[in-house]
Amino acid sequence: MKKMAENRAEKILQILRKNFTMPKWVTSDREPFETLIVTIISQNTANRNTAKAFGNLSKQFKITPEALANAETSQIEECLKVAGLYRNKAKVIKQISKIILEKFHGNLTPILSLPFEQARTTLLRLPGVGPKTADVVLLFCAEKPTIPVDTHVNRVAKRLSLAPANGDYEAVRESLQSLYNPKDYLRLHVLLILLGRKYCRARNPLCKQCPVNMLCPSKQL
Ligand code: SF4
Repeated sequence: MKKMAENRAEKILQILRKNFTMPKWVTSDREPFETLIVTIISQNTANRNTAKAFGNLSKQFKITPEALANAETSQIEECLKVAGLYRNKAKVIKQISKIILEKFHGNLTPILSLPFEQARTTLLRLPGVGPKTADVVLLFCAEKPTIPVDTHVNRVAKRLSLAPANGDYEAVRESLQSLYNPKDYLRLHVLLILLGRKYCRARNPLCKQCPVNMLCPSKQL
């Protein structure tokens, strides 16, 4: 039974690989601290507004724990206005920068060098860092074996029956991880997002054109 599910999951991945090109941002060599900040900004915020807010912040400050810990919260707020919940995010960014500066000597690398579970627990103790933010930093900056579950990954994985329909964050992550080889986690995460944006939209999914419709139990043709 497990083998059949794995074979089906593998076929889905192969089809997605043929149909989508990995975007450039996947291979960008962004510093772990920058990735952390951009992921905090992206919470409940559209990509375009995340990029604008991060651009504003980068113009105003060096994206380092030192610069942001010493910035006025109101100045950070001003940069983040285009993003949702910007007041709270500005507060969190300043707090997190202070903690990383004071407790971790301004460097996330020692945390990312810890064994996976320990690194994840340490990140999750930081203010404003939930499982998705921690998993993004761990996967993209340290190649740790985890699959971040954002809104697209959650919806698409469930529609494709790669995760339980009523599963929470951890259930979806564990289900996907049990079906795929860790070497494919990053690729899968990105490809499910691309599928979700282009075809498997929250409303009115484009099932007729969807490249994996023959393997999808939720297709509406
Ligand atoms: S067939 Fe439809 S529901 Fe299934 S993955 Fe494609 S777009 Fe989503």
